[in-house]
Amino acid sequence: MTNKLNNFKFVFIFLGLFLTKTFFAQRKIASEAIFAVQPTPTPTPNCNNSSEIYKKKYSQQSFYVPKPNDPVITLKITVHIFKPVEDNGRWQMNDNSLNGLPAMKSLLDSITNGHQERFSAKRRATYSVENFNSPYISDSKIKYEITNIYFYTVPELYLSQNDFALFEHIEKIDATRIEEGMPLVINANPGPGHLSSYKGNAAIVTSMSPGDPIFCRSHLLHEIGHAFGLGHTYVNTGGGGSDWQNFNGACGSDDYLSDIFPNNNPACQNEGQATNKPTNAPCLSCYESSPDTSNNIMGGQRYNLWMSPLQMGRRIRSLHFNFENGRNLRRFVKDMESEHKSVLHITSNEEWDFDIQLYKDIVVKSGATLIIKCKVAMAIDGKIKLEKGAHLIVDGGEVTTWCKSGNWQGIETPAVKKKKAGDKTIEPVYIKLHNGGTITKAKMQMPIK
Ligand SMILES: [Zn+2]
Repeated sequence: MTNKLNNFKFVFIFLGLFLTKTFFAQRKIASEAIFAVQPTPTPTPNCNNSSEIYKKKYSQQSFYVPKPNDPVITLKITVHIFKPVEDNGRWQMNDNSLNGLPAMKSLLDSITNGHQERFSAKRRATYSVENFNSPYISDSKIKYEITNIYFYTVPELYLSQNDFALFEHIEKIDATRIEEGMPLVINANPGPGHLSSYKGNAAIVTSMSPGDPIFCRSHLLHEIGHAFGLGHTYVNTGGGGSDWQNFNGACGSDDYLSDIFPNNNPACQNEGQATNKPTNAPCLSCYESSPDTSNNIMGGQRYNLWMSPLQMGRRIRSLHFNFENGRNLRRFVKDMESEHKSVLHITSNEEWDFDIQLYKDIVVKSGATLIIKCKVAMAIDGKIKLEKGAHLIVDGGEVTTWCKSGNWQGIETPAVKKKKAGDKTIEPVYIKLHNGGTITKAKMQMPIK
């Protein structure tokens, strides 16, 4: 990496070595850029993510495993294609060309709009372990959508591996393009495709062979998987980024994918063949590698379309928080109406010391108090409903919306019976604002005390 790139953090992990050792395997996805996946948000006053409720509930990928009535969240992706001067390379603008725009659109269509990015295949594996059956969920509740495909003809950037220069060029042409959706930047650079970032937001940079749409599809799904914080299910001798090693976290810790890696797996014969034999005691699970492999989406092989429930949970979690170390993804979620039926129930006192983006209404059950010390961003027409005897305290925090095209609804409190003249009964106070706490961009104007 050159000095110029020092302030631009990404990590390449080349798979060359691994490829040569597993030549008999299917073609692996060329990719890589990995980072710690553990929630490590940047602490701001009131928002240090240290509360018990955060650790036990909201930081857990299992909490976000999708349920049938959960809302579908759409991730916006904007495609930026760097072309050679003569329009004879990849992705020509000539619609009659085999390598032209229709082929690109057809490729992108295969992973967007509720096609293969949203619904998981069933698990298939070449090995079995007693008492291990990963639960199957079909609908991951996340889909991708392409906002636009932009072309750039810049000879010096066509083959460039300098991500930063690519992003800067796009921004210089039109700064809104880089904000419009997660950038998927395609040129003919000879390096591996990888997860990158620009100005704190996630981005992907890759080359793309027009002659192999199946590989390209698997590759794109895989790289976008990294943007959600997913790691490989195969071994990563080149560095971090392996979900099997739980990103070097302890076996069995929060982000362990127990629904992919069976413990005490006897089918670990390939572990000894790895260049640097990784250890994963005490779980004694195996990374997946041919011949003992599955069709997991992060397994690095074409046609792989199985997502485990915990992987789905992690994907959804990553759209709630901004903790992927400078790879904000939630900012690229498409505006949507809040889910009003499958809501988030608060059944006991909770103190939120974290910044969260929500897709569902909140119902604070009778007798419970929700204290908001940080930013809570609701979807369009989202509502926080307080049942009788429930309370909301915004203590230095803010309740607002994350959507740009509409406001959230506001806070609904139980109806108060009309008073007769002279009635001295004091109305209960449901909502309190402390320490500069605010409620903004709500449609309903509430009497706030
Ligand atoms: Zn990868």
